Amino acid sequence: MSDIEIARAAKLRPIEDIARQLAIPADLLFPYGRFVAKVDTGFLAREDRADGNLVLVTAINPTPAGEGKTTTTVGLGDALNLIGEPTVMCLREPSLGPCFGLKGGAAGGGYAQVVPMEQINLHFTGDFHAITSAHNLLAAMIDNHVYWGNEKDIDTRRITWRRVIDMNDRSLRWIVGGLGGAANGFPREDGFDITVASEVMAAFCLARNLADLEARLGRIIVAYDRDRQAITAKDLQAEGAMAVLLKDALMPNLVQTLEGNPAFVHGGPFANIAHGCNSVVATQAALKLSRFVVTEAGFGADLGAEKFFDIKCRKSGLAPKACVIVATIRALKSHGGVAKEALNTENLAALEAGMANLRRHIENVRRFGVPPIVAINHFAADTEAEIAFVQRYCQEQLDVEAVLCRHWALGGAGAVDLARAVKRLVDVGEAKFELLYPDEMPLEEKIRTIARSIYGASDVAFDGKAAKRLHELTSEGFGHLPICMAKTQYSFAADPSLRGAPKDHVVPVRDIRLAAGAEFVVAICGDVMTMPGLPRHPAAERIRINADGLIDGLF
Ligand code: ADP
Ligand code: MG
Repeated sequence: MSDIEIARAAKLRPIEDIARQLAIPADLLFPYGRFVAKVDTGFLAREDRADGNLVLVTAINPTPAGEGKTTTTVGLGDALNLIGEPTVMCLREPSLGPCFGLKGGAAGGGYAQVVPMEQINLHFTGDFHAITSAHNLLAAMIDNHVYWGNEKDIDTRRITWRRVIDMNDRSLRWIVGGLGGAANGFPREDGFDITVASEVMAAFCLARNLADLEARLGRIIVAYDRDRQAITAKDLQAEGAMAVLLKDALMPNLVQTLEGNPAFVHGGPFANIAHGCNSVVATQAALKLSRFVVTEAGFGADLGAEKFFDIKCRKSGLAPKACVIVATIRALKSHGGVAKEALNTENLAALEAGMANLRRHIENVRRFGVPPIVAINHFAADTEAEIAFVQRYCQEQLDVEAVLCRHWALGGAGAVDLARAVKRLVDVGEAKFELLYPDEMPLEEKIRTIARSIYGASDVAFDGKAAKRLHELTSEGFGHLPICMAKTQYSFAADPSLRGAPKDHVVPVRDIRLAAGAEFVVAICGDVMTMPGLPRHPAAERIRINADGLIDGLF
């Protein structure tokens, strides 16, 4: 059965039941239909409750073979609930772009999914629309400011705030706006990014509450004036109205897994120019509401987990108790040099070579003081010898447990071993979470530290303009911010073709961007695409409503 057929066949519990299970007061639940609700979690901040145990799910460097972080997050959460540990899962909201492009839906897969999948994948509770509106309100206010006399002396060649839409549309990457004569403003070069790349999205996901969000929105830099001084959203008095547009969106969205367990699906920032995890608000609420919280960070652990720790945890005070690193036999073989067509054939030598990638991720996670555990996401073509090899290698060479999981095929029951192992690990209480670098470390040094200790690089090569920009940012008072690395997800190096665990490579830093509202400095180490295009045959060609009134084609 396809993911959507499995999702469709599920018998869902009314969302009120799920909320009751978490002891969420009925008057703080705002249902969107029968199976989705927003939760006003403000009450939790006023209560003195202990936090549950936070477990991060991350992965080895992705390969075209696919790893299954979301599936494992859901499978592990369902399994923890099965063994009697109340658990909430925290996931990102899918974007419409990939949904109609290459990827189809993004709500897990097989028997490890969050539902209702159609609603989650399409519009959902309108959060992305709210974020799009808040972003574009600010854009409109910039051009409007210029139109009415440009009191702040905005240099229209140096407006950095683009527009956003939640769609893959390459023709909007660069546009000229304001055409059509004097009544329509001043023509200028502009462009669109996809909504998930908006700084509003990143600020939204890192904000502790609405007041914090409004303050962050106010600090967003939108342009520079003729003296090269920064103009912020606050200078244009936009942050209040933007926060108003985001007020409801900031309440986490409660849904359920196929097995009827609670999940928050909230916020969805890009994992390259942003930090790539769900909202702080949802994660913190989930920790107050249950014993375990399982959450996912985007891309592989070199990017996703590092940013989860150094950006999300730094500011919010979150401290994970364990980290699950998802690996597949296929992907490990791919890291060992096997071509995609040959991945279904047993190959222990390639598997052994590919373990280098997993090894470094394990070492990296330990650097943060978080105990790792490996989840082998089982695929049909995996052989017993291959699975046994990985388990033995992990135990003997890496001193880490590797647990075989079949949640994709079996749901929570297929991940009970993983759940027990995670619980054991958390109960031992080994975690002593620490950040990779302190706030005070100079920006250049922070980038070098990440490159050397996480990527195995020998050094970083800063382009002239990147080095200059880092100095400027430091003198402007942004030196204390953490770094958000924008690097390829496919390799530890900046070259995506370098599989395994490349060593002594040099990480080129081509450009630097400041996200003053989100509160990080983006180091761009390659091409970053902030407005994807659609493939020759987008998923949209196959998505339709069938004769029974059901949606087909969402995978
Ligand atoms: P990630 O979160 O790492 O991007 P997902 O969990 O979303 O990965 O899984 C990516 C795709 O791979 C989904 O379509 C999912 O159904 C599929 N998938 C995941 N695990 C398995 C598996 N064990 N067997 C077959 N397909 C799987
Ligand atoms: Mg995912």
